[in-house]
Amino acid sequence: MKTISNFNCKDKKVLVRVDFNVPQNNLLNVTDNTRIVAAKPTIDKILKDGGSVVLLSHLGRPKGKVSDEFSLKHIVSAIEKVVGQKIIFAKDCIGDDAKEKAKNLLPGEILLLENLRFHAEEENGDVDFAKELSSLGDVYVNDAFGTAHRAHASTSVIAQFFPSTKFFGLLMEKELFAIEKVLHKGEKPVTAIIGGSKVSSKITIIENILPAIDNLIIGGGMAFTFIKALGGRIGNSLVEEDKMQLALEILEKAKSHAVNIYLPVDTIIADKFSFDAKSEECDIYQIPEGWMGLDVGPKSNAIFHDVLLNSKTILWNGPAGVFEMLNFARGTIALGKAIEAVTKQGAFSLVGGGDSVAFVKQFGYDKKVSYVSTGGGAMLESLEGLELPGVAAINN
Ligand code: AMP
Repeated sequence: MKTISNFNCKDKKVLVRVDFNVPQNNLLNVTDNTRIVAAKPTIDKILKDGGSVVLLSHLGRPKGKVSDEFSLKHIVSAIEKVVGQKIIFAKDCIGDDAKEKAKNLLPGEILLLENLRFHAEEENGDVDFAKELSSLGDVYVNDAFGTAHRAHASTSVIAQFFPSTKFFGLLMEKELFAIEKVLHKGEKPVTAIIGGSKVSSKITIIENILPAIDNLIIGGGMAFTFIKALGGRIGNSLVEEDKMQLALEILEKAKSHAVNIYLPVDTIIADKFSFDAKSEECDIYQIPEGWMGLDVGPKSNAIFHDVLLNSKTILWNGPAGVFEMLNFARGTIALGKAIEAVTKQGAFSLVGGGDSVAFVKQFGYDKKVSYVSTGGGAMLESLEGLELPGVAAINN
């Protein structure tokens, strides 16, 4: 892997594409600095080598227009707090101010450029714009995993101007390593948990990971499409009727790859989609009319627990139930607990993509698993087997 860990940045001006697309409140204060903290190791490494850092990022969706609301100047103090030093700010990412400030940048200093997306050329992948950005540094580092699935000027097009000095940042390295570890180098048995609402949004992931895994646990709303396809009565549970045939085909494909599939056997049914619904345990094949399954039941939890406790590598994408309502969060919590236990025994566990990441953060399991991905869409596309443009640009 072409990573910055193997390069000495002494006296180099290093352009680092980061993903500082952080959440802010109405006063534009940063409410969650996870993405800034995630970029710190790369920044520290460059400064420690004796180089200087030019940070490139987008924030929000200004759609090619300058707008105060999306200015990176509002997040300067949050970055300074994380990196522990003052940073210099350029009021545009290209042009005289940026050029002057980049030219005068000394080893040990950090320059932050204004929002890349104030220029439509960024999202259009404009080559001239990328070339202008490239003139601000000697080395290019992509550490923006959250944006690596976009073929934008600063995430992929720019790399061509650094044929021998383009590298992955340390965060990118960790993300790519985690995916590699699960999909290509996973110690067996490898177990994937795929949950969430819809089969349709997870089908490509399932098809791509089947050759790499030994066990597949299916949870969440998407399980009901499988159960109905297998002849179960699912009441008012979530279902994609047009995906039932596909569900049966997945089961067949899994068999041909010798993958054990674990569908829930019981469920927690509710009389309405609400936190104050009446709820009961129920056989997942026998849900009465008017009721819907909103979580997996205790028998399923026990089965999933045993499978997970015997796994050496785990991939988790998607919740087991409607965890946003506490009375339907037990199945997802049980998964979190089992993964915590097996990770303690030495298994490698990766949580990636969307709602399972929200769950582990909310319930405190983010510190108990081996790795939580910082990139939603980028992680999903990686699991689908796509090569991300931001990754390809460094590799090729
Ligand atoms: P996804 O974005 O496809 O990963 O789906 C995540 C969403 O699926 C979460 O918001 C869950 O509340 C929802 N979900 C999980 N289980 C069920 C279920 N049994 N019925 C309806 N929605 C569910």
